[in-house]
Formats: sequence, structure tokens, C-alpha cells
Amino acid sequence: MSEMKFCQGVKCHQYKTKDRIKGTQGNKTYQTRRRSSFYYGGDNFCSLNCQNDWFNKFGNRAIDHFGRTTEAKHLTEENAWYKDYDWGSDYNNRTFIIRNGITKEQRPITEEQYNDQNYTLNTI
Ligand SMILES: [Zn+2]
Repeated sequence: MSEMKFCQGVKCHQYKTKDRIKGTQGNKTYQTRRRSSFYYGGDNFCSLNCQNDWFNKFGNRAIDHFGRTTEAKHLTEENAWYKDYDWGSDYNNRTFIIRNGITKEQRPITEEQYNDQNYTLNTI
């Protein structure tokens, strides 16, 4: 069974929906949603509203912490590789490739390389 966790939305408990009402009889309150998984914000938020609330409160600080983009990035041959797959006759016959969005060159990769978040041919 998956571990339960709370929505990280800073105002989640302020949205008055029936499913947020929790507590014993006579002591019920609107509470932060708690689920085993969430659809939004990397499995952290119960809704787009909650994700936006978090970003409106913390977004600037998060961007400053992890690095604000201060000049244009350029798509070049060195960083235009992206992973893709071709459908075969069915799902189990997919072939995995890495394709350069500038040169259109494509090379076969394994399913493991496709799923590996760190695998890339991009050099910059
Ligand atoms: Zn929420």
C-alpha cells in the first residue's frame, strides 16, 4: 500500500469541498487533502490551483535558489537531442531512438536508455 501524503498547496485547506471536511462529529474542519499520489506538480499537488498557490508564494524564491535564467538559451546541434520512440505493430514493438532536432540525425537507443533520466547525447 502506498504511503499517504499531503498536498503541498499552501491554501488547500481553504478550498471548501466536501472531500476536505474531516474530523470527528462536532469537530469537523476543512483540511489539506491527503492522498497516496497527486496528478500535479511532480506528484505534490492535488490540483492546478494548489500548484499555482504554491508557486505564487514560493516561485520567485525557488527560481532564485535553483538558478534564474538571465540570458537567452540557444538550441544548437550540441543540445538538440531528444528521446522518442516509433510505434511498431503494437506497444511491445516500440523502438527507441534519440533524435537531433537540428540535424534530424537519429540513433537507436535501448529502452533502459530511454527511461534513464540522466541519459542524453547533449553536451551543453
Ligand atoms: Zn491541494
